[in-house]
Amino acid sequence: EWVDFTEFFSRIIDRFEMAKRENVRFTRILPRKPLFVEIDEDKLTQVLDNIISNALKYSPEGGEVIFTVLEEEGKITVSIKDEGIGIPKENLGKIFDRFYRVDKARTRKLGGTGLGLAIAREMVNAHGGTIWATSEEGRGTQIIFTLPYEPTEEVDWS
Ligand code: ATP
Ligand code: MG
Repeated sequence: EWVDFTEFFSRIIDRFEMAKRENVRFTRILPRKPLFVEIDEDKLTQVLDNIISNALKYSPEGGEVIFTVLEEEGKITVSIKDEGIGIPKENLGKIFDRFYRVDKARTRKLGGTGLGLAIAREMVNAHGGTIWATSEEGRGTQIIFTLPYEPTEEVDWS
């Protein structure tokens, strides 16, 4: 179905903002206008739920999570950036694999199966987008994905 991504994303961030730890800060850099994309809302909700829970799970006290949506040529680019423990370079390519978890000891106590990002990749790809990560160990992680987007023609009814 056709969904205004700006509004859809804001609602998801709101839900996490109400439940989050008080000392983690949220910053939103979102367009001030609707961006209509054709998506499966339930599936994209699952994608964002996982990425945002990861960001919160690995964020330190006082950390900031930055949510960004950029309109570009033929696509929108969505990014969720945290100031958490980060991911070593050599593991970065594997985090979208099924059941992959970076550090067994470190992540055992935080729970999870290692499926979240594998499912996210499948669903983003199914929407015609791509997903990737950048990270610096000890400084934070950024998960970025794109979705196809065509600006709607302004119709002048006058
Ligand atoms: P699940 O999502 O199934 O509950 P999970 O969160 O461990 O389990 P994924 O979401 O697929 O699994 O993430 C895979 C691994 O990538 C994680 O176990 C973690 O090691 C690493 N990872 C993912 N997101 C972050 C992040 N924001 N900061 C640091 N490490 C991360
Ligand atoms: Mg996860």
